[in-house]
Amino acid sequence: MRWLFLAMTLIAAALFVVYVAPSATSPAPPPVEAVALPPEPYPVVSMPVTGLPRGEVCNEAPAFEAAAARNALEIDTLPFSPFGRPETGWRIYAPQVASEIATACAPEDPGFANALAGWQRAHRQPPTGVLDPDTFQAMKVRWHLRRPFVVLSRATGCPPAATPTSLAAAGEDEVYGSTVIELRADALAAWRRMVADARDQDPAIARDRQALLIFSGYRAPDADDLRCESQGNCDNVVRTPCSAHRTGLAFDIVVGSAPGGRVDSTDDANRLAMSRSPAYRWLVRNAHRYGFVNYVFEPWHWEWSPPEQPGASRA
Ligand SMILES: [Zn+2]
Repeated sequence: MRWLFLAMTLIAAALFVVYVAPSATSPAPPPVEAVALPPEPYPVVSMPVTGLPRGEVCNEAPAFEAAAARNALEIDTLPFSPFGRPETGWRIYAPQVASEIATACAPEDPGFANALAGWQRAHRQPPTGVLDPDTFQAMKVRWHLRRPFVVLSRATGCPPAATPTSLAAAGEDEVYGSTVIELRADALAAWRRMVADARDQDPAIARDRQALLIFSGYRAPDADDLRCESQGNCDNVVRTPCSAHRTGLAFDIVVGSAPGGRVDSTDDANRLAMSRSPAYRWLVRNAHRYGFVNYVFEPWHWEWSPPEQPGASRA
């Protein structure tokens, strides 16, 4: 009996080290909406894996069938508040989650749960294979820290506005509507390379004459403050006078909408329709290779990382 007691004690100690100790010693995740923090060392967060696993088996992972059944239910029913307001289900975010865990399986598949468990294990979450609010929160922190605007804001406070000489106007055939839209010239050049490739690679994107048109770019800080205060129309859930659009690196682009929905409506049905569009799905899989990162709550908002900026990386 003594050896049995000893073995059980060792197993209990090992489990404590694996599941309890790391989370007990991990720093609390940074507040993600409040970006104007004092300077501090910030982690360089690498971009997700580009290539999906070859030969991945989606419907055969016996250990994850129960987790898959729960994901299949909760993808449309999970009550949570990932961006400060209550939402039901995580289907809107399924493309980003699949990209993050590098799977080509559908969210309802055991193979998806298996890949998610691998991600959870690597990121100090219990490897259940179920997408729960804690796992989503851990992903959300990583998604925020990939945004150049968040990295800069954390390092130095609200970033300066782009200088007029750094800006260039998008062409008439690149914008949605008839307004003049300016962006930083290097960001616009990267954008043009990416859009050309997207249209080359996906006929559905090439056929959609509105897909990937730009509807907002650089916004002068004064004008943005006014818009934010007078209309309550801010880019973040938490109202902030410091918008990413001051940098000239932020693009608002057409990725579809629900019938009758605006191209920038945060209505959940609208965001769900956007998340299903070929343009958005292509961007989620490929944009990081061109230096573009999404603010996940807004499928239309993408930011470019200048290659010289800390935190920027290319796959
Ligand atoms: Zn925006």
